[in-house]
Amino acid sequence: MIVVLSKNISPRAKELIHSYLKDRGFSVREQSLGDDTIIGASGKGAVDTRELSILPGVERVAAASKPYELASRETRAEDTVVTVGGASTPAVKIGGSRITVIAGPCAVESREQIMETAAMIRESGAVILRGGAYKPRTSPYSFQGLGMEGLEYMKAAGEACGMPIVTEVVSPELALQMKDLTDMFQIGARNMQNFELLKRVGSLGKPVLLKRGPSSTIEEWLLSAEYLLVSGAKDVVLCERGIRSFESYTRNTLDILAIPVVKGLSHLPVIVDPSHAAGIRAMVSSAGLAAIAAGADGLSVEVHPRPDEALSDGHQSLYGVQFEKLMRDIEALAPVVGKELVRTPGKYGK
Ligand code: PEP
Ligand code: MN
Repeated sequence: MIVVLSKNISPRAKELIHSYLKDRGFSVREQSLGDDTIIGASGKGAVDTRELSILPGVERVAAASKPYELASRETRAEDTVVTVGGASTPAVKIGGSRITVIAGPCAVESREQIMETAAMIRESGAVILRGGAYKPRTSPYSFQGLGMEGLEYMKAAGEACGMPIVTEVVSPELALQMKDLTDMFQIGARNMQNFELLKRVGSLGKPVLLKRGPSSTIEEWLLSAEYLLVSGAKDVVLCERGIRSFESYTRNTLDILAIPVVKGLSHLPVIVDPSHAAGIRAMVSSAGLAAIAAGADGLSVEVHPRPDEALSDGHQSLYGVQFEKLMRDIEALAPVVGKELVRTPGKYGK
């Protein structure tokens, strides 16, 4: 059960709500959710919710009908807007009436490659730089990423071009090491239900991009978001990237309807990765536009200056000109869905 507190609650009233719940057998946890302060009450306690809801300082009691509470729209009706970066790079928002585009290579391959890609995507209007330094690969013989060195290159590229960065974290130990170098952690599809990783990353309080597991239901995905939120994350963005089906013409099956479903169930922003869904360059842009038309809050797109030379996922990475065209198409589509494409003003701004 979630108790949403009034914005102007006094410390005394707050204390009384805490003891009211504890006296009735609940363990309580106070935290912020968007611009709300909430108390999560769990355990075997019993309470008269009508009595609780009229205590001074209680805005609302949300007895969630779903197994996830913090991620649920029943707890927070407004769209959550997540902020990424803002220290050494501009702050970028995801959610609400915006379309935010994240782009970059599948993996950081060298200082030159990430610098070149960052400048290219920034010029076309991407506002967050993506790239893997630790790559979870199906084969142990495939390129595994440059590790911390790659992350240093990426941070430098983001700072040079004025873009916050997002990169995948694959273990709880690495999360601590990477914390000060990345603006946003990505939890990859394969790790969506790595609960120890979710708990550790959540506890670091940084923004998190949570990809949907290839075989996960929407409820499992939202429960993974719940792990992050209950562990301390405030800025969680969901990312649909295709699920596994019997179809083999595409790498994965883009679950386009997951977007409106999740937007109905949760207040968290939802973006789409059309690159890993399609797996084929020629289909990436149309899948991305379809996602925007279906209500996605943004995209994460793989782009490489020379896809044929890419060390991973080259066949699904866009050339610079294709990405430029996709950005122009998104800009044209945005007003149709009542949104605006986020641009970073400045040197590369359009
Ligand atoms: C990626 O974004 O590079 C990636 C590995 O994606 P996913 O976890 O969705 O497969
Ligand atoms: Mn990839």
